[in-house]
Amino acid sequence: MHELSITQSVVDAVCERAAGRPVHAVRVRVGLLTAVVADSMRFCFDLVTEGTVAEGARLEIEQPPGAARCRVCGSDFTLTDLVLLCPCGSADVEVTSGRELQIISMKVG
Ligand SMILES: [Zn+2]
Repeated sequence: MHELSITQSVVDAVCERAAGRPVHAVRVRVGLLTAVVADSMRFCFDLVTEGTVAEGARLEIEQPPGAARCRVCGSDFTLTDLVLLCPCGSADVEVTSGRELQIISMKVG
C-alpha cells in the first residue's frame, strides 16, 4: 500500500507549511500513473493527520489522466490506465504527464 508513504510525505509538507496553524482542507493532484487509489489515500490521510495540525482536514484529490508520446509514430495519446502502449502497438513511448504528485492548495488558519 504505497498510498501510506505518499500520504505521509504530503502531510509532512502540509504541516511544515502550516507552521502550527490548523489546516482545514488540502487539495492534491495525483496523476493516474502513480496508481494511487483515491479512497485509500483518503483513508491514509485520516490516519496520518491524527494528532497533527491537519487532523480533521478535508482532502480533495484531483486525478487527471496521463499522456504519452510515441517514439515510433510520433502521436500523442491519453493514458487512462497503466498500460503504456501506443494505439499503433508500439511500447516505445515517453510519458509526458500522469506521474505528478502536487499539493495544489491548502486552507489554513
Ligand atoms: Zn505509435
